[in-house]
Amino acid sequence: MRNVIIIGSGCAGNTAAIYTARANLKPLVIIGHEPGGQLSITTEVEDVPGFPMGIDGPGLDENMEKQAERFGAEYVYGTVVEADLSKRPFRLNIDGEWHDTRTLIIASGASARWLGLANEQKLIGHGVSSCATCDGAFYRERKVMVIGGGDTAMEEANFLTRFASHVTLVHRREQFRASKIMLDRARANPKITFLHSTVVDDVYDIGQNSVTGVRLRNVETGRVWEQEVDGFFVAIGHIPNTKAFKGQIDLDHDGYIVTRGGARTNIEGVFHAGDVQDRAYRQAITAAGMGCMAAIEAERFLEAEGH
Ligand SMILES: Cc1cc2nc3c(=O)[nH]c(=O)nc-3n(C[C@H](O)[C@H](O)[C@H](O)COP(=O)(O)OP(=O)(O)OC[C@H]3O[C@@H](n4cnc5c(N)ncnc54)[C@H](O)[C@@H]3O)c2cc1C
Repeated sequence: MRNVIIIGSGCAGNTAAIYTARANLKPLVIIGHEPGGQLSITTEVEDVPGFPMGIDGPGLDENMEKQAERFGAEYVYGTVVEADLSKRPFRLNIDGEWHDTRTLIIASGASARWLGLANEQKLIGHGVSSCATCDGAFYRERKVMVIGGGDTAMEEANFLTRFASHVTLVHRREQFRASKIMLDRARANPKITFLHSTVVDDVYDIGQNSVTGVRLRNVETGRVWEQEVDGFFVAIGHIPNTKAFKGQIDLDHDGYIVTRGGARTNIEGVFHAGDVQDRAYRQAITAAGMGCMAAIEAERFLEAEGH
């Protein structure tokens, strides 16, 4: 029987592990399909406090894990495929093996949706991004492209005009899903050009390990052309990693965990941390902050129950 199991080894899970380990709760961290979380697929991180010269994403993850292990956290490879949260102890099926725990911290993140282009994954962190807040500042006076037709795409495009010399917003349909106010704001921005009814066939150039351009196709006319860009921002949404908890815990219509304040879920003893609940900020530091909150909640819960 574990005092606490933490699902996920991203910023939220690692921070929860540091705090619960230092509280002597001997947490078990389930690493999941993406060891180190989303930061493991990026290169330079410049906005996490404490690193004046920045730090590479995987390095930051490794530091956090080592810090948690120093205080007794245990990390295991595996994925939670099923959960029984109907009674205590909570039960988790980790790749076929059931584990019991008194408290649970769900820090399983939300994965960015990608377009599925041949070169896209290879260029993440080298010009391909899913986060303007994180990477916009790398594109001062450069040309960037944003893909998407919702509010997030409009917000990212507007934000990027603070740095970029020009932003092209590409959307596959004629109509936009974005709210009128966000669309109008983007349309009124002189630095943004709209390309609708257009899809991206691929992004280049893996030979140079950097984004240099894209191949575009108009879905109505069939016209194909190439355009030079330095940055390629995919803003077509995120998928919260909550499949294993469906029907067990309150999720919203997109699958994000519904918070009951702080790090609490609708189930006593089950806490959330990071992007799995947060559709607004999605940053390393906010995820880490919520990891800390979840750990303190778990510790107080156990204390009150006499553990
Ligand atoms: C390319 C890129 C660049 C970014 N750059 C920055 C930046 O510069 N600055 C910044 O602040 N933020 C940046 N972000 C955002 C930041 O990475 C996220 O906000 C942060 O990682 C969220 O942390 P998290 O722990 O909530 O989730 P994640 O990092 O997504 O971690 C989720 C963890 O849960 C695990 N998991 C998922 N499902 C299961 C399961 N069923 N069982 C077990 N484990 C599971 C995964 O393996 C993973 O370890 C970037 C994101 C991306 C994609």
